[in-house]
Amino acid sequence: MFKIGCHLSSGKGYKNMAETAHSIGANTFQFFTRNPRGGAAKAIDESDVAEFHKVSKEYGIDVILAHAPYTLNCCSDKPDIRKFAINTMKDDLARMEYTPNNLYNFHPGSHVGQGVEVGIQYIIDTLNIVLKTEQSTTVLLETMAGKGSEIGSKFDEIKQIIDGVKCQEKLGVCFDTCHVSDAGYDIVNNLDGVLQEFDDVIGLERLKAIHLNDSMNPMGAHKDRHQKIGEGTLGTQTFEKIINHPKLRDLPFFLETPNELEGYAKEIEILKELYED
Ligand code: FE
Ligand code: FE
Ligand code: ZN
Repeated sequence: MFKIGCHLSSGKGYKNMAETAHSIGANTFQFFTRNPRGGAAKAIDESDVAEFHKVSKEYGIDVILAHAPYTLNCCSDKPDIRKFAINTMKDDLARMEYTPNNLYNFHPGSHVGQGVEVGIQYIIDTLNIVLKTEQSTTVLLETMAGKGSEIGSKFDEIKQIIDGVKCQEKLGVCFDTCHVSDAGYDIVNNLDGVLQEFDDVIGLERLKAIHLNDSMNPMGAHKDRHQKIGEGTLGTQTFEKIINHPKLRDLPFFLETPNELEGYAKEIEILKELYED
């Protein structure tokens, strides 16, 4: 079954997100665990979570993706910022157990001039603190555009992080189409080649989710500016290939395009139309 959804506001709780998703034709969704600028998360409302589980069953929502605040930086040069990232991830993962067996995505971070090697080590250290064998959540490293000193724009960097982590069975990767293109991988003309490279370097079994975003910029631009599906440099055909690719088609897909709900509903409709049953 085609698992398709988009990024939703978490302001009104889990049940509301499930209902919103269902109302726009989605059967999954992504949300921020807290204000993306950081700060404390709202306490979990257990009755809301219970309602969420009920309606999810009804709507066929069987996986959701929580996104860490994008301002977290596990590999900052400032100890207090690294500590904040650790505490936030720990807290998020504890909260995720109220909605067990789902996915938690984070941006590996920016090394801010310390160098890729130092940055990767800090990310590994963070994951070795926050990941626990008993957790039910799979934590995903997001492939990045390579803006500034971002780590994770090369498959090899993601692989190095995974290699350093003890609890690897709780680790996966989220493939962001805008980021991967911006990073210099040609998914427009050579999707099979890019996926082969992903498989050779990281292993496709690590791939757990896809962010579907067109890009405002040409391949290799390292800009990270998302565009609506079909209105950027990737084009609708690329998305048609991605959602139908035998290695990808069973994964959950999440739109993070510059849209309000109405725009997301339209994109979901188009993608469903393109998905081959
Ligand atoms: Fe992201
Ligand atoms: Fe993304
Ligand atoms: Zn992005």
